[in-house]
Amino acid sequence: MRCPFCGNIDTQVKDSRPAEDHVSIRRRRFCPACGGRFTTYERVQLRDLVVIKTSGRREDFDRDKLERSIRIALQKRPIDPERVDQMISGIVRRLESLGETDIQSKQIGEIVMETLARIDTVAYVRFASVYKNFQAADDFDKFVSELRPGLQSEK
Ligand SMILES: [Zn+2]
Repeated sequence: MRCPFCGNIDTQVKDSRPAEDHVSIRRRRFCPACGGRFTTYERVQLRDLVVIKTSGRREDFDRDKLERSIRIALQKRPIDPERVDQMISGIVRRLESLGETDIQSKQIGEIVMETLARIDTVAYVRFASVYKNFQAADDFDKFVSELRPGLQSEK
């Protein structure tokens, strides 16, 4: 962080603590070049995430697609829809908190599996069995359509 007094870029953090609103971190900084002291606030930025496919292709993260695949895996399972919403929000927050704008599609699949495993074993197995066969493939829509026939055959 550049010193606002002398422009030196090599400033030091003396103290970090949550701000009163608890949605930001307050940092006291010190500039060794001029002795200046200043404060910065760091906030979570809800960024636009980019998914990196196994092919290397980039695509904007689409929450709806994620939601669709999870809802299909949870079809006919006794899970409260509100709980599903919370779960999806939780996954998105986890993706955002990875600290990178670029996320490997594989990483998303793993986080989804981990979350489903905690909530519903049947849904986890549904998702994982399709996902594991799918790692070489690339298209999430195709992934969702492959997940669907598997469910229909269980009827
Ligand atoms: Zn300075």
